[in-house]
Amino acid sequence: MTSTGPSTPKRRVLISGAGIAGPTLAYWLHRSGFAVTVVEKAGSLRAGGYPIDIRGTAIEVVRRMGILPQLRDAHIDMRRCTFLDADGGEVAVVDARAVAGSVEGQDLEVRRGDLIATLYAAVRDDVEFLFGDFIDTLDRSGNGVDVTFHSGRRRTFDLVVGADGMHSQTRESLFGSEERFHRYLGHCFAIFTMPNTFGLSRELVLWNTPGKAAALYAVGDDDELHAFLNFHRPEPPVDALRDPGAERDLVARTFADAGWEVPRMVEAMRDADDLFFDTAGQIRMRRWSSGRVALVGDAAYAPSFLTGQGTSLALAGAYMLAHALATHRDHTAAFAAYERDARAFVAMNQALVDNGAATLFPTTAQALEQRNTMLRDLVTMPSATPRPAYSALTLPEFAPTP
Ligand SMILES: Cc1cc2nc3c(=O)[nH]c(=O)nc-3n(C[C@H](O)[C@H](O)[C@H](O)COP(=O)(O)OP(=O)(O)OC[C@H]3O[C@@H](n4cnc5c(N)ncnc54)[C@H](O)[C@@H]3O)c2cc1C
Repeated sequence: MTSTGPSTPKRRVLISGAGIAGPTLAYWLHRSGFAVTVVEKAGSLRAGGYPIDIRGTAIEVVRRMGILPQLRDAHIDMRRCTFLDADGGEVAVVDARAVAGSVEGQDLEVRRGDLIATLYAAVRDDVEFLFGDFIDTLDRSGNGVDVTFHSGRRRTFDLVVGADGMHSQTRESLFGSEERFHRYLGHCFAIFTMPNTFGLSRELVLWNTPGKAAALYAVGDDDELHAFLNFHRPEPPVDALRDPGAERDLVARTFADAGWEVPRMVEAMRDADDLFFDTAGQIRMRRWSSGRVALVGDAAYAPSFLTGQGTSLALAGAYMLAHALATHRDHTAAFAAYERDARAFVAMNQALVDNGAATLFPTTAQALEQRNTMLRDLVTMPSATPRPAYSALTLPEFAPTP
């Protein structure tokens, strides 16, 4: 084990993706003496966005980065979750934290855009960002990685890390097509924003019938709602994917006879300019690196939104990868340490969907009734029990900065 000394030349790392894992990794690598470049396909950071959770071990990551106070300010203090039946009748009104298994005063729920902006602010002065560009080719035949970007620029790096999300191009170019690693979880979802004409404020309203769910999420007191339509489907709708017209038609057909406010939601989805449609799935890989290239976050081990742990895995995984690289000069040893030390945590969190974390979306009448009974119990027992998986990783300490 060797540490980077002051006279050692800086190792150059290219990170693909400025989502959650990318800037987190950039922060810790810069702090450990690496020269870091981040390339992001989008032309700028995306503001706003759906709420995401930061829990357990990941809270410790953001605390060590010094950004916990800003994130506490951005915390969405959700008041309640209201569960509705097929006709819109109330099943239960539950403390939001009890549903998520989050711990009051510790765990955080913030807009994805707020987290990304906070991470970016923590690194933008120290790290090179290339927006509106992406990797075209990676040539690993020499002593480094020769990268050709889509813009035509060419650079050589010692290491490349794919932090480019669930549908990672880096993973595809290194390991092959996504279907080899994608584990479909039997649900499809559409998420979009629509006007808040319901008077909702800091609350979630969730309508369920067996195999179908519609949610309205009021993040603040503002005029916008995050609308969410989720449905069970044994096989992924391969023909509709990546075809926005076909995706819209599929959702509209699926919810054609739905009650409550669902017809208004479907109408809003038709007009939405920010519709995001995808299948719920996980990325499961035997290895997260190949040669001088590694993967982090959703690109390597997306747990799916059904676990609510994607953000926390991205934060903790980036920390562990940076720590391994800071500790081991040899990248092969570093990547092996990263995989060894983070894998159990990833596996426990991915297994949350096997253990009932998907109970928000029951697929049979019986499962829905059981879920509703559980919710009524939560009303009388609102204190949350954090899931052990959230805190199952103890973070190693970085060496003090010189
Ligand atoms: C609808 C929905 C709801 C969710 N809800 C929750 C929740 O409640 N709690 C939770 O913890 N998680 C939730 N998640 C998951 C969470 O958003 C992800 O797990 C998390 O963002 C993963 O971070 P990441 O940095 O690995 O990837 P991402 O955040 O996806 O970032 C990847 C980045 O790479 C960029 N990129 C993509 N391709 C390229 C390329 N070729 N070159 C360069 N850049 C590229 C993208 O533009 C993006 O900026 C949800 C996800 C969805 C879709």
